[in-house]
Amino acid sequence: MNPTYDVIIVGAGPAGATAAYFLGNAGRRVLVIEKATQPRYKTCGGGLSLSFLKSQFSFSFDPIIETDVEAIIYAFGESCVTVPLSTSDMRMVMRDRFDAYLLAHAQAEVWQGISVRRVTETSTGVMVETSDGRTASGAFLIGADGANSVVAHAVGLRRGKRLVAAIEIEVSVPVEVMDRFAKKPVFIFGEVRYGYAWIFPKANHLSVGIAALHPKPGELQAILHRVMPRYGISVAGCQMHGHPIPIYTGREAITTRRVLLAGDAAGLADPFSGEGIRLAITSGRLAAEAILADQPEQYEKMISRQIGFSQFWGMGVSWLFYHFQRACFSLGASNPFVTRAFIDLLSGRTRYPAVILRIFVTLPLFLVVEALIQLAGLVGGADKMRWIRNKIYLTG
Ligand SMILES: Cc1cc2nc3c(=O)[nH]c(=O)nc-3n(C[C@H](O)[C@H](O)[C@H](O)COP(=O)(O)OP(=O)(O)OC[C@H]3O[C@@H](n4cnc5c(N)ncnc54)[C@H](O)[C@@H]3O)c2cc1C
Repeated sequence: MNPTYDVIIVGAGPAGATAAYFLGNAGRRVLVIEKATQPRYKTCGGGLSLSFLKSQFSFSFDPIIETDVEAIIYAFGESCVTVPLSTSDMRMVMRDRFDAYLLAHAQAEVWQGISVRRVTETSTGVMVETSDGRTASGAFLIGADGANSVVAHAVGLRRGKRLVAAIEIEVSVPVEVMDRFAKKPVFIFGEVRYGYAWIFPKANHLSVGIAALHPKPGELQAILHRVMPRYGISVAGCQMHGHPIPIYTGREAITTRRVLLAGDAAGLADPFSGEGIRLAITSGRLAAEAILADQPEQYEKMISRQIGFSQFWGMGVSWLFYHFQRACFSLGASNPFVTRAFIDLLSGRTRYPAVILRIFVTLPLFLVVEALIQLAGLVGGADKMRWIRNKIYLTG
């Protein structure tokens, strides 16, 4: 076989578009095949780190940012903690615009509105067949076709993946409700056993959702109907978008000789939070780098070093948190050092082992400072306490 393309990429989400961007910039002949036509709706909260994006791409994402984030609200039953952020780089996007924008920066041939049906791998290349009867051949193939990857299935990879069930709803709300959540995403714990719900503010609406491991049928929908009205949000009659999140387990191969899986197709989402855009972009870049270096066999090791090592410890954090949600909420949510550590994780500046270290090292310090703040509050009242908290903790 004499391949027409250097690389065929299946799927134009963040993983596929990123791989196309780096391969195209390096002058490779790239074909991207995308089932939908961009911009297309993608079930996703759309929370990400701007400094992470800046660390990966040379162009600005300003045109497609919906809103920035000034504080994070954590809720558990009746308890609610607001952690103000000083110079947070957390941002909210809508994935239709984000993904289309990323793809527009890639120098690649793009076939849209066409899905890949079959993948055949030989010793010299890869052949794909599409839903409209076309075929294309490439020296390598990157499977970036998401949680239900056709590519992974076709080449016999990722048969035992672990999927978190998730639902997203885009809700229009009255101005006063919108104002309450403006620049303040909410994370709601304690409503579902191995997961959480969220309210993410966008420019003109709220993205509301929930994700959990092994929920009972209908459980997630019922929780959204029960919990959201407490926040003044009615989800009755709104369209619920369900989509799985394949979380990292570290057990499975993600490459064959000529096929490399990236993003959700490789099951790289964060086992604690389900966050996956950063991991999709990182793995898309690493797949491109492995092919450009003519060392595709190194890809799995690269993923293991740059993503797997951290995610392994993330699995431990996830286990601990979801088995002891109330205790972890009490000790973690109101501790701004913990929020700072997670924001650094989201930005790619730090990894789970460092996050764990920071949680345990700052805990005694946090407890002492809180005791002193309570004492100051006895003298100066609640305003004084809030003022001191902001001075000491303001999280960046
Ligand atoms: C409810 C929910 C909320 C989330 N919230 C967040 C969040 O706030 N922050 C965060 O970082 N992550 C979040 N995630 C995770 C994040 O959405 C994913 O990890 C991320 O989209 C993975 O990117 P990807 O490029 O690997 O796959 P995808 O974004 O799924 O892209 C795959 C692409 O492949 C295409 N495709 C599929 N099959 C074929 C085929 N046969 N042929 C051609 N094309 C095909 C699809 O149309 C799609 O465009 C959330 C996920 C869910 C479900």
